[in-house]
Amino acid sequence: DQNISELDPEIAAVLDGELARQQNTLEMIASENFVPRAVLQAQGSVLTNKYAEGYPGRRYYGGCEQVDIAETIAIDRAKALFGAEHANVQPHSGATANAAVLHALINAGDKILGLDLAHGGHLTHGMRINFSGKLYDVAAYGVDPQTFRVDYDAVRKAALEHRPDVLIGGWSAYPRQLDFAAFREIADEVGAKLWVDMAHFAGLVAAGLHPNPVEHSDVVSSTVHKTIGGPRSGFILSKGEYAKKIDSAVFPGQQGGPLMHVIAAKAVAFKVASTEGFKARQQRTIDGARIIADRLTAPDVAAAGVSVLTGGTDVHLVLVDLRHSTLDGQQAEDLLHSAGVTVNRNAVPFDPRPPRVTSGLRIGTPALATRGFGDAEFTEVADIIATALVEGAAADVDALAARVRKLTEAFPLYPGLQQY
Ligand code: PLP
Repeated sequence: DQNISELDPEIAAVLDGELARQQNTLEMIASENFVPRAVLQAQGSVLTNKYAEGYPGRRYYGGCEQVDIAETIAIDRAKALFGAEHANVQPHSGATANAAVLHALINAGDKILGLDLAHGGHLTHGMRINFSGKLYDVAAYGVDPQTFRVDYDAVRKAALEHRPDVLIGGWSAYPRQLDFAAFREIADEVGAKLWVDMAHFAGLVAAGLHPNPVEHSDVVSSTVHKTIGGPRSGFILSKGEYAKKIDSAVFPGQQGGPLMHVIAAKAVAFKVASTEGFKARQQRTIDGARIIADRLTAPDVAAAGVSVLTGGTDVHLVLVDLRHSTLDGQQAEDLLHSAGVTVNRNAVPFDPRPPRVTSGLRIGTPALATRGFGDAEFTEVADIIATALVEGAAADVDALAARVRKLTEAFPLYPGLQQY
């Protein structure tokens, strides 16, 4: 029974290298976060050894008495956190949660209507080569070409035209809150079920800083690893009337044995998400995104042809519009990466460049808020990013990297962590 450093030094080196990378750079990918040590402990535990097909008290395997406790706690915490009648905490990921939602609500060939992938929607909301686009008849609504916001009259028009069986609210790249009551009204008008995918903003909802889709929706799906800051995984909330359908769509409809180590880690993350400290962190997350949006709408940035979609943000991310900049999305991502700031390039709606290049950046604040950053640090981060985008190819990367190093050193990540 060897330590990983003896058994597999190549993989041990990856663990070390990745810890150092996370410690020494500014992580600003909007869908990422840093889990607490307690989540690492649950996820790296002997629970990974256990088969537990079925649900607590109704398993197809013996020896589930301990994992039943963990899953029951996770379910109860998820329901309490979001005020839901039913919770399924078994989805391995956001994508499998979404597959189970559609599997539960409709049949192959039925119609779904969601936000266009090119306007900030997600692959699982109907992308052509995703399961959702292959199994279901897909229609999409887009954002308004002037405001870049979801226009509910346009959603209603699309719903009346396409008559979807499921109307989808939710996004991967959109900087504003959604009006769930408006979605509900439109769904009711056309006889559609309403599914909201809150994968990105669930942490803000848990903190009470974003409208809660649960009361308006038939079903709500989410990931646990974005703003919530838990283990990489998904979960589904629903009205009681869908409980049985959702559960059987996840297992046996969609998955086999649940990942009990991850479910235990989800329980830990939900416990953290019910605390005052978590609420304060989500507030710093939103405040940080606003600080970045403010800096990236200043005159020197505008003069460089760089702007912010919708002019600001209500959530944990900012979408930068580079359509009029000398940098494309790929170049901007690479430039920031060379200074130690990790972001992802992202197509903007009506993007003239191909998806592998893009004319945008998605910049998120959850991971840095978890690291402890507040207004002062986000102000410095915002200026580092603004300087890089304004100066472009002429930017002094070494000077920017030195500023990044000062911040990472002042806010050590996982100090003293022994990974093995
Ligand atoms: N739903 C939305 C809105 C997302 O943004 C994502 C992740 O990017 C997912 C679902 C999928 O989650 P996962 O990557 O865990 O499958």
